[in-house]
Amino acid sequence: MSPRIHIIGAGLAGLSAAVRLAARGRTVSVYEATSQAGGRCRSFHDPALDMVIDNGNHLVLSGNAAAMSFLDTIGSRDRLRGPATASFPFFDLASGERWTLRANDGPIPWWVLDRHRRVPGTRAWDYVSMLQLLRAPLGATVGDVFECSGTLYDRLIGPFLLAALNTEPPQASAALAAAVIRETLAAGGRNYHPLIAQDGLSAAFIDPALQFIEAHGGHVAFGQRLRAFGFDGRRVAALDFGDTAVALDNDDPVILAVPPAAAAALLPQLRVPTEFRAIVNAHFKLDRPSAAPPITGVINGTVEWLFAFPDRLSVTISSADRLLDTPREELAVKIWAEVANIAGVAPALPPWQIVRERRATFAALPHQNAIRPAARTNWRNLVLAGDWTATGLPATIEGAIRSGFRAAELIDGLDV
Ligand SMILES: Cc1cc2nc3c(=O)[nH]c(=O)nc-3n(C[C@H](O)[C@H](O)[C@H](O)COP(=O)(O)OP(=O)(O)OC[C@H]3O[C@@H](n4cnc5c(N)ncnc54)[C@H](O)[C@@H]3O)c2cc1C
Repeated sequence: MSPRIHIIGAGLAGLSAAVRLAARGRTVSVYEATSQAGGRCRSFHDPALDMVIDNGNHLVLSGNAAAMSFLDTIGSRDRLRGPATASFPFFDLASGERWTLRANDGPIPWWVLDRHRRVPGTRAWDYVSMLQLLRAPLGATVGDVFECSGTLYDRLIGPFLLAALNTEPPQASAALAAAVIRETLAAGGRNYHPLIAQDGLSAAFIDPALQFIEAHGGHVAFGQRLRAFGFDGRRVAALDFGDTAVALDNDDPVILAVPPAAAAALLPQLRVPTEFRAIVNAHFKLDRPSAAPPITGVINGTVEWLFAFPDRLSVTISSADRLLDTPREELAVKIWAEVANIAGVAPALPPWQIVRERRATFAALPHQNAIRPAARTNWRNLVLAGDWTATGLPATIEGAIRSGFRAAELIDGLDV
């Protein structure tokens, strides 16, 4: 009988490892501490709005190869929607200007030569400066190698990097910025079509993954918080869930796919990122659909990105620690005033909800990036997964799924 693979944590990292292994005929057991899968990427019923919303609006780009492969395997790529081109409407709250950035699909970015396609107020030459980021030395910040000011920065590079890194770009790791740019902006428009889970994150990423795992003989157990490992020399020998314990067979591998603080509590000698950044989302229920495009980038506002769903308008604000202590009502009123202006809807405040994820992602700072651990551990049957492990990417869906796939590859190659 082939060994059972035990996966701790049913976020995207744990689920993608489970899906990859289950697809290869391996038997997986997933243990999730809470009553729901998805971790930081999930939908839930919100009683205040009486509707299903996401913990945060998540933007995926068409060039996110691991995410696309995961969705193909679980059969839900069509649950992501977006334009068939790399087009991004923007609105500048200070000047009232609107424009749409429209990149061509091919690898040669001739769109920057066309002033109707590029950012207003920029010249084609400005875009060449982005190459400096691609050559940045490890340990450098974006601000060390790139002039974080000027129209192109304010209207494109800054908002793009802030969203991708969830960290103020001047202080953020240039290596992580470069990794994102290399796979998207510098790889041709077909790699950055914006994609949104129109019917919710769980419907696209989570529920089909759970169904896939069960259909392939795996099992996902909820309410199972791992309290401790039992070790036998260089091997994990038991999983302690408090009320229950699982004794591992000699060759049972384990993937630990929990957030960094939980991983450090279970493996005290593990070095993990210790600084985090918040993301704030505001959701506004609408009586009738707004005419706003599915996603709008916002310049010079508290709002950074506005997402239009059929029944609500939703706002994302990254690196939002400054807003954690603002009273919720005050925040809702302030954000709605901007939203009403951007979307051209009536100013009366509709039913709203504010979701603040305090530890949304690790801070993408050079010294935090430097301490992300590799997937292999000192224990021969234990590997790590999670957006905070050393994926080379910032904490994103793509990074989380890539880490899950990597853990699955390592398990397949483990000498256990
Ligand atoms: C508000 C918000 C907006 C975001 N926007 C974007 C975006 O636009 N684009 C993008 O690409 N990414 C975005 N992200 C990042 C993305 O959501 C994460 O990178 C990804 O979901 C992390 O997945 P993970 O599996 O690594 O970790 P998690 O999702 O944290 O999963 C870990 C799981 O482990 C469980 N767990 C914890 N401890 C234990 C234990 N002891 N035993 C068992 N289980 C345990 C947790 O309950 C959780 O389910 C956003 C994140 C947030 C919070």
